[in-house]
Amino acid sequence: MPRMVDARVTIRGRILLAFLTMSLITGALGLYAIRGLQDAGELVNRTYDESLMSINYARAAAADFAKMRSAFARRMVTGDPAAASKLDAEINELAATLSDDLGIAVERSQSDRVIRSAKAVQEGVELWESMRHGLDGSTGKSAAWDALDRQAGIVDGQIELLVNYTAGDGFVFRQTARTVVAQEIRFNVIATAVALILSGFVAYLLNRRIIGPLASASAVAERIAAGRLDDAVPTGGRDELGALLRAMATMRDNIQAMMEREVSQRRSAEALLADALQSSREGVVVVDAHGRIALANAQALEFFSGLRSAVEVGSSVIALANGEIDAPAPMIDCARTLSRDGEVLLADGRWLRVSRSATQEGGFVAVCSDISVLKEQEAGLKQTNLRLDAALDNMSQGLCLYDADHRLMVVNRRYAEIYNLPPGSVVPGMSAEAVLQCSLGAGHHPGSTLADMLREAACIFGTSRQRTHFQELANGRVVAIEQRMTADGGFVATYDDVTERRQAEARIAYLAHHDTLTGLPNRILFSEQVDAAIAQAGRGTGFAVFCLDLDDFRPVNDTLGHVVGDELLQAAANRIGACIREIDSCARLGSDEFAILQRGIDTAEDAAVLARRLVEVLGAPFVLSSHTVTLGVTLGITLAPYDGTSCEKLLMNADVALARSKVDARGSFRFFEPEMDARLQARRLFEVDLREAVANEAFEVHYQPIYCLNADRICGFEALLRWNHPVRGWVSPVEFIPVAEELGLIVPLGEWVLHRACEEAARWPEGLKVAVNVSAVQFTSASLVTAVREALQRTGLPGQRLELEITESVLVANPGATTAILHNLKMLGARVSMDDFGTGYSSLSYLRSFPFDKIKIDQSFVRDLCAENGTEFIVRAVIGLGASLRMTTTAEGVETEAQLSKLRAEGCDEVQGYLFSRPVPSVELPALITRWNGAARAIA
Ligand code: C2E
Ligand code: MG
Ligand code: MG
Repeated sequence: MPRMVDARVTIRGRILLAFLTMSLITGALGLYAIRGLQDAGELVNRTYDESLMSINYARAAAADFAKMRSAFARRMVTGDPAAASKLDAEINELAATLSDDLGIAVERSQSDRVIRSAKAVQEGVELWESMRHGLDGSTGKSAAWDALDRQAGIVDGQIELLVNYTAGDGFVFRQTARTVVAQEIRFNVIATAVALILSGFVAYLLNRRIIGPLASASAVAERIAAGRLDDAVPTGGRDELGALLRAMATMRDNIQAMMEREVSQRRSAEALLADALQSSREGVVVVDAHGRIALANAQALEFFSGLRSAVEVGSSVIALANGEIDAPAPMIDCARTLSRDGEVLLADGRWLRVSRSATQEGGFVAVCSDISVLKEQEAGLKQTNLRLDAALDNMSQGLCLYDADHRLMVVNRRYAEIYNLPPGSVVPGMSAEAVLQCSLGAGHHPGSTLADMLREAACIFGTSRQRTHFQELANGRVVAIEQRMTADGGFVATYDDVTERRQAEARIAYLAHHDTLTGLPNRILFSEQVDAAIAQAGRGTGFAVFCLDLDDFRPVNDTLGHVVGDELLQAAANRIGACIREIDSCARLGSDEFAILQRGIDTAEDAAVLARRLVEVLGAPFVLSSHTVTLGVTLGITLAPYDGTSCEKLLMNADVALARSKVDARGSFRFFEPEMDARLQARRLFEVDLREAVANEAFEVHYQPIYCLNADRICGFEALLRWNHPVRGWVSPVEFIPVAEELGLIVPLGEWVLHRACEEAARWPEGLKVAVNVSAVQFTSASLVTAVREALQRTGLPGQRLELEITESVLVANPGATTAILHNLKMLGARVSMDDFGTGYSSLSYLRSFPFDKIKIDQSFVRDLCAENGTEFIVRAVIGLGASLRMTTTAEGVETEAQLSKLRAEGCDEVQGYLFSRPVPSVELPALITRWNGAARAIA
């Protein structure tokens, strides 16, 4: 930032000041001289105007008076009155002129004595006039004439005096003017001298203030230029020179600092260099032009034991190395090592690499590096290479490594094996083309030329990404070729004989699309086939999709075992396959579910013909290896595209038709009708309602008494779920429980019933138990035992007062796991009942698998208990079974007294039925208990 400099102290300011001063002086002198000249001029004017004029007018007055006397003389002598009056007038006029001249002489002179003199003249003239008038007409009176002449002489004398006075005044004026001019000249001389002195002084000042500092500045600059940086730099004033000196001082300081920095940097660099040299892990030996060692660092001394002596002796290294000088062996060894480049093994086992470089002076610098580690690594690398070679040769994959020019660099033994090439036929250095030629020559690619092979290779190698290419050889083997670019622009290719893997994959792919038991396509492949048929159907060819369900297969499987079941399924698959044409497809979708795709049909009748044949063929007895079994088949059929335009939809609708067919009559077939779909929609609506009801807990629990025949009183109640839908009304559990099971809603619903029932039962008199139905689906959930435990804990109901009713279906799916859960439930104190006994497949075996506390005889047996040829003997057998297994028997659905007394007679323990009460809401329970057990036992 420029410094604000006071204008008065700058050189420019000073020069300006000097200029102004000099100008002022010169101006003043000039003015003064002009003024003096003006005064002198004025004096001259006055001399002329006042003194000369005054003299002239005084003289004019004298002339006027003379003329007056002359005129009077003529008047006096003239006799002509006219001439006399003319002369009178002339005399009067001259008198007036005289008076005017006197006035002017007085006016110009302004001197007192002139004024007084003029006044005396005027008075003398006036007296002369009056005396002249006195003479009018008196000629010859000489006294009067004498008086007049005297007066005229007085006037002349007075005028003479006046003239003298005016002339004297003129002289005075001249003297005054001369004095003034002389004064002015004197003063001007003095002023000029003063001005000269002042100019000299100003010049002196300028010299002092400018030239002096300038000289010292240039001296400083010279000193700085000469490198004398320590000399002091004058401070200087506040002017430009001062600024220049200061700048030079700063410049000098900067140069000094720079030089110091440079010096210190050099010194530290030198120190670092020396340090580096000394602490270097490389040994450095500098040999001069005479071959003598000029410098050796610590590391060099450490490497060579004879080096120190060689340095001290100062002998030539070359001479020492050549054996020209007698010296100890270490010194000679050291000299020999230093005198040539190369690698040397030291006596202590270390390896040194010596590299020499010539110096400008004619010597050389030998740098000795310890390469022991490198040597070790080299050996290690060699070993690794050997191992790598071994690994390459034992690889299960063939390998070829090519360089950027596609020349073979590495190839292993396996490559030749895969391509059945004689050993040594493919070797490093060959071009990729030559390698391909070898493979071609071995006859692996019949029908292919080298050009084809190169094209194929270019295709494979044409990408930098790794990619697998499968090559099928003439001998049927498949080689997976994978290539990957290498960092140096080459590539590595691996060759894997994947024949077996490909076969396995083909097998897996087959298995993924086929049913292993029957060899038929599975659902995935069938879907693909149907999708293909759908794509073609657009071009006018219709097709039908059949869903087949083998009737009564499950009992056969359960009773005769899976081996028989499998044989039966295979036989059924064969028969189905025999019924269809080659263009049709058949698939196995599930255990005993099959599907058929019948292509190219014109009418539904075509499908009906096939359906009838299938019913007939599959209805014929199957003669298996150990059994003869008779099955049936029920079918559902959809026609594309009317019944659906996707495989999923066609199969779903065919399933709907199948379900309908099963309901109507087994061993028959039904075409899908939209009405069936409506039923499906209805079912969906039902599901939606049910989900909502579960979410809102829109259920009630009703209770039906269980009557103990021995104690003759109600011993407990069965909790039965009720759903009162705002539109549907009361929906039977028989209807909604299976749906809830299918949707998985039964788990939260079952837990809810359990809690409500336990809560309710906890309020009942002691001894009254509550029976809660548990669905088979709840047994697949891990939370059942936890839910029961929590219900008991929260409500405080003792476990012994809780009965859990299960059906045989619980044990069918996973008997092992179910039994474990049942044991856990028993450990909580709960009792377990077998509900609906007699309606399952092999109840007896299930009864054996778990120690049930109770068997509940299904109401279907009780219903016909009193009928002729009824179920009396079954009921009796079951009661007997229960007694022998020490299980309580409860008969369900007791509606009549006859049934009751028969059951009592047969020794049944408990009964349940409308005869005692329908299931009722909990509020009605106190009345029921009072009625059957007496008031004392009513609910509090
Ligand atoms: P279940 O456990 O065998 O229950 C007995 C069924 O027989 C009840 O039908 C009951 O009302 C009916 N019943 C009782 N006495 C008589 C009678 O004298 N004559 C006739 N005709 N029927 C009688 P409900 O309540 O319709 O229940 C049907 C089934 O629904 C139950 O059979 C049970 O398997 C299931 N169920 C009911 N509530 C639940 C529940 O909370 N959870 C589960 N998982 N299932 C339940
Ligand atoms: Mg029950
Ligand atoms: Mg039952």
